[in-house]
Amino acid sequence: MADQITDAKQQQASATAQQVNIAAAKELASYVRSTLGPMGMDKMLVDAAMNSVVTNDGATILKETKITHPTAKMIVEVAQAQEETCYDGTTSSVVLTGELMRQAEDLLSRKIHPTKIAKGYIIAGKRAEELLDNIAVEVTDELLYEVARTAMTGKTAETEKDALAKICVEVAQATDLDNISITRRSGGKISESLAISGILVDREKVHHNMPDVVEDAKIAIVDVDITLPEFAQQIQVQVSDNTAVQEFIESRKDQLLAIAEQILKSGATVVFCMRDIDRFIQEHFAKKGIYAARRVARSDIEAISKATEARIISSIDELIEDDLGYAKKVEEVQVNDKPLVKITGTPTSDAVSVLIRAPTQHVVDEVKRAFDDAVGVVSVAYDNGKVLPGGGASYLYLSRELKEYASTIGGREQMAVEAFANTLEIIPSALAENSGLDPLDTLISLRQVHTTKGGSTKGVNVEEGGYIDMIENGVVEPLEVVSQAIVSASNIAAQILRIDNIIEMKPEAQFGDDNFDY
Ligand code: ADP
Ligand code: MG
Repeated sequence: MADQITDAKQQQASATAQQVNIAAAKELASYVRSTLGPMGMDKMLVDAAMNSVVTNDGATILKETKITHPTAKMIVEVAQAQEETCYDGTTSSVVLTGELMRQAEDLLSRKIHPTKIAKGYIIAGKRAEELLDNIAVEVTDELLYEVARTAMTGKTAETEKDALAKICVEVAQATDLDNISITRRSGGKISESLAISGILVDREKVHHNMPDVVEDAKIAIVDVDITLPEFAQQIQVQVSDNTAVQEFIESRKDQLLAIAEQILKSGATVVFCMRDIDRFIQEHFAKKGIYAARRVARSDIEAISKATEARIISSIDELIEDDLGYAKKVEEVQVNDKPLVKITGTPTSDAVSVLIRAPTQHVVDEVKRAFDDAVGVVSVAYDNGKVLPGGGASYLYLSRELKEYASTIGGREQMAVEAFANTLEIIPSALAENSGLDPLDTLISLRQVHTTKGGSTKGVNVEEGGYIDMIENGVVEPLEVVSQAIVSASNIAAQILRIDNIIEMKPEAQFGDDNFDY
């Protein structure tokens, strides 16, 4: 009797935990679902200080949104992993997870055990991954370009996506992602964005008498202040007479001069400093025709070091010729009346820089995010070598195949595989809905065409309704993005379903608490 009561309680507890988790997953999915696809809506995110970001990038929304529910947090982590490995498909992975949970809710109400559902989802996810290979297409230069365009559709970058897509393909083919640095400059047209082989740094010379161009540059990189050590700066002088003050100033100048000379002695003609450079030293550098920039960002310092082979120095006393890097040319160029440092002809020729331009800071930030993703997606497609038709086509193909596959599996898992197959239709359905089309009509016509020969490349025609051939229309995405989104959604849904109880963890004892273990 007592056992039965505990059992009933246990069941009730798991039912509530599941309901709570399902509700959280569904809510999160519905939150980002309206942003899916080229006609997706933007969201405006506002923080307590009224700073705002306008975006339709699923990853940004999830990153910037305060999410407290533990299950929702787990899903956000999946989306983040998706973003980190594939640079795209975050919204899709969250929408799929939410729909898998909604379908699971239905199966649970029909008394199918959660572990059976979880098992069916995993089986279906694995099978889906294998099936995708059947409709994958080998990449070509043209397809890479379409991948970039597809990745940018529906974002602010869209207006100029041809120009940006060209840059994407150019840089992704030229080098690894690690060697690509992106600089932003507002006040200009998106179409004025450009890529150079070399490095662009958003800095300027510290003294107007410094040269604008240094050829055959010997580059020193310093990550500390170029000035007197702190103790020497803090010495106080008793002002008894003017000569003492004069003497003090003179001796300080001598010390600063020694530091400047130390750098010059190494043979450096260009100095990039991460911190500040003393005014007197700046003047001395200018007199000697040295180019110097200060407060250079750590990421830029690292990129310069890698490309020019300069060692980053923290102790100026130890700077020697061997530490210097090389570039054929270091020059200051004006972009929109503001300077930028351009470093070209470096020994490691892999460095590539992209300058993103747009009218305002908001736009330039959003374009940069879109470009970042697009360039990542293009390298994923380039490295992995395969792409799929977009617009929901591959999801419909999988859905159909999995329904057939389900019939070969016996037991309760079969129903879970069928539910999984139905889940995949949420992608074309949401794409249709977000484009103002009737999702059910669209699905019906798509399902029909997918039963015909050559139908598996048909997806949602977001412009005019109905379906079109996605490959012919250049809507393509990397195989990796789709398979990762599906596999991670099935894994996380299975993991959430296996949670049968939510137990609040005791907070860890803090120093000073009664229960702290001294
Ligand atoms: P995610 O964060 O999942 O990448 P997106 O908002 O970028 O979400 O939308 C991606 C979806 O939009 C993909 O399924 C892709 O195939 C589809 N898509 C992109 N461009 C088009 C288009 N021109 N027509 C139809 N579908 C498109
Ligand atoms: Mg996308």
